[in-house]
Amino acid sequence: MANVQTVTGACSPDALGTTLMHEHLLIGWPGWEAHGEEDRVQRRERIARCVDQLHELHGLGVSTLLDPCPIDLGRDVELMAEVAQRSKVRLVCATGLYKEDQGAPVYFKFRQQFGDALSEMTDLFVSELTEGVGETGIRAGVIKVATSAHQITPYEELVLRAAARAHRATGAPITTHTDEGTMGVQQLDILTSEGVAPSAIVVGHSCGSSNLDYHLAMLDRGAYLGFDRFGLELLHPDRARQAALIGLLGVGFEKQIVLSHDTVWCWRGRAPTIPASILADWHPTHVFRKIIPRLREAGVSQAKIDTMLIENPRRYFAEAGTARC
Ligand SMILES: [Zn+2]
Repeated sequence: MANVQTVTGACSPDALGTTLMHEHLLIGWPGWEAHGEEDRVQRRERIARCVDQLHELHGLGVSTLLDPCPIDLGRDVELMAEVAQRSKVRLVCATGLYKEDQGAPVYFKFRQQFGDALSEMTDLFVSELTEGVGETGIRAGVIKVATSAHQITPYEELVLRAAARAHRATGAPITTHTDEGTMGVQQLDILTSEGVAPSAIVVGHSCGSSNLDYHLAMLDRGAYLGFDRFGLELLHPDRARQAALIGLLGVGFEKQIVLSHDTVWCWRGRAPTIPASILADWHPTHVFRKIIPRLREAGVSQAKIDTMLIENPRRYFAEAGTARC
């Protein structure tokens, strides 16, 4: 069994405990450097805010959190390590690149015109997984990929293939971003065509759709589905996410579903002013305070909830390196 690389060192998958599989301490949209000076001033306050948030989550039983921020969304692994050192929650960071319309595709698209960006991306991901991010020595524990709504662009496909090759070289699992509950099946097509087993993949934001045919097409192949945007009412209502989840649990898919919120705690550059109505339930404790009680009320056993929060993250990390398709 492979160890999990956290930002503060390796740990056994057996030690992960209750794990939130998709939250963000910090992200920055490409271009955040426009307010880079203000960004630096806020660093200490951001670290304190993240430590406080993890303290609250630890009180609810969370012991590990995966922040799948890709390279090009303002990722700061040193901030993550400092936060982890000051809290009781382990943090796992990612390598990988974001989707074309909101990431920073220009660099590798330019390189692809004159060379082999696929190899360069693969080498970069492998190096961040095995040696560390830049000079930090902090190793990524997972590979992040992302696709657009209703399409996978040629650039995004390049990133998916590089991620698959980095997975094959290192055994690190893959976690994905999908938009509007689309393209998860096609993500699996590309990743498995490169030899990745579906059980090494979390298809993220699968709860952005409540179409059971879409979910079953991925579950039947053995992938994990991320029901990882609870509280993001604006994108897809919680009621619809819960209805799909309760249905899938009712027919025995608890071993292939992970839970989270995709919250963002700090923004690089200037923080946006987000209306309070959007923030009402978009909080990393929402699953524990509201969703789990509702699942229990609907007759979902505590054992199934524990499987999604504890056993699935453990198995995903423990078996990714040996999974075969
Ligand atoms: Zn995310």
